[in-house]
Amino acid sequence: MSDTFDVVVIGAGPGGYVAAIRAAQLGLKTACIDKRDTLGGTCLNVGCMPSKALLNASHLYHEAAHDLGKFGITTKGVSFDLKEMMGAKDKIVDGLTGGIEFLFKKHKITWVKGAARLSAKDTIEVDLNDGGKQTLKTKNTIIATGSDVASLPGVEIDEKTIVSSTGALSLPKVPKHLVVIGGGVIGLELGSVWQRLGSEVTVVEFMDQVLPGMDGEVRKTFGRVLKKQGMKLNLSSKVTSVEKTKSGVNVTFEPVKGGDAKTLEADVVLVSVGRRPYTAGLGLETVGVELDDRSRIKVALDFSTNVPGIWAIGDVIEGPMLAHKAEDEGVACAEYIAGLTGYVNHDVIPGVVYTHPEVAAVGKTEEELKEAGVAYNAGKYPFTANSRAKANLQTEGFVKILADKETDRVLGVHIIGSDAGNMIAQAATAMEFGASAEDIALTCHAHPTETEAVKEAALAVHNRTIHM
Ligand code: FAD
Repeated sequence: MSDTFDVVVIGAGPGGYVAAIRAAQLGLKTACIDKRDTLGGTCLNVGCMPSKALLNASHLYHEAAHDLGKFGITTKGVSFDLKEMMGAKDKIVDGLTGGIEFLFKKHKITWVKGAARLSAKDTIEVDLNDGGKQTLKTKNTIIATGSDVASLPGVEIDEKTIVSSTGALSLPKVPKHLVVIGGGVIGLELGSVWQRLGSEVTVVEFMDQVLPGMDGEVRKTFGRVLKKQGMKLNLSSKVTSVEKTKSGVNVTFEPVKGGDAKTLEADVVLVSVGRRPYTAGLGLETVGVELDDRSRIKVALDFSTNVPGIWAIGDVIEGPMLAHKAEDEGVACAEYIAGLTGYVNHDVIPGVVYTHPEVAAVGKTEEELKEAGVAYNAGKYPFTANSRAKANLQTEGFVKILADKETDRVLGVHIIGSDAGNMIAQAATAMEFGASAEDIALTCHAHPTETEAVKEAALAVHNRTIHM
């Protein structure tokens, strides 16, 4: 059987499912293929959403067990049932993936469950999950196959004692000692989950600070925050072996610059050294789709590949591997296919680390501005001087705004704070509208809110904070 579509999307993650919805909204006959039995891709099934559900649950437990006394609230015998916590997380994921299923029905999108392969520029063969095969004919194909876990050479992930993020989201018991290889976003978020639930957590990171790629001052400060919380950080350290033993796993590492090796005994090792674009088995070589030097699909500004009618978006192309970036590209790509002009501003894509406190950033770091030779003013405001943060006893962190020295245009905003993930939205909006630091400083911010720290940081750009 062969069906003909205007658009077939391969991959139903935030890039793919959003592209399918937008294409259907624009009147295009659309199908979306995914080899998972549920929609939502990495993000909903084994990424953003289960991790946030566990971050929230573990935070609530930790607050109840350790922090409520500060507010005069007495709690006794606070405990948790890990199986129930995992069950709650799975229920949240089911609800969300079911929500996408509802949206597919609403927009009359054909959902095909199976592994897809391009056999020609306009032909997709699917090995159906239920057995059998299906061929889809299409005028346009959007490749949204996302990314997969990367490992270290010679380290085999068994998802039991040597786990990727996927295994770390479903551990059957709290490990006594969790070693996290890689101090990036995913490693620190999942490390935080298990630390709150009682694990001793040790991070081994190759770079000299955690959160590679983020603003230097933020990285340094956040490293200090994590250490205060009890996380052990081995920075500038290179893992040389990961070996299973009878009782767990031994992780050996040495200083990057050379020196004595150390071995840690862990119950569970989380390998979180990054993700790689997922293009295996897609038949890209058959149709001649070009990849770049990092095996990502090469695209033009409109997300078209070198093969007419084949497009690509999300983690499988260049740029930060983030769900909202994939979503925006999905919308824009569908609009280009429909003959409209899509829009994604890759200079204004916020990034958030959902630890406690959170870390959030948008735009350029100080290091990037210095490297590009851009003159800037920096304004910084600590939460210790923000009334709402003080009332909440959440005074860790600061807001930093970087603005062009000449024009005052905001070039970057960096926040460590309990609500940084929500607060970064106003910075992104301001930057999208080309705001100056003065524009933010002149905007009335509700009192008492942590967002007032953004206004004060904008005032600090011109050395005129009011409350400090
Ligand atoms: P994906 O979501 O990876 O979806 C691709 C889909 O394609 C998959 O479902 C896969 O099964 C399917 N597929 C692949 N090949 C084929 C094939 N040949 N045939 C059929 N189907 C195929 N990002 C954030 O923005 N915020 C967060 O808080 C966040 N937290 C994360 C936490 C974790 C633990 C992880 C792992 C990731 C997190 N991310 C987060 C990243 C985010 O999940 C990804 O950036 C996002 O899912 C990418 O979307 P995508 O649509 O490009 O691909």
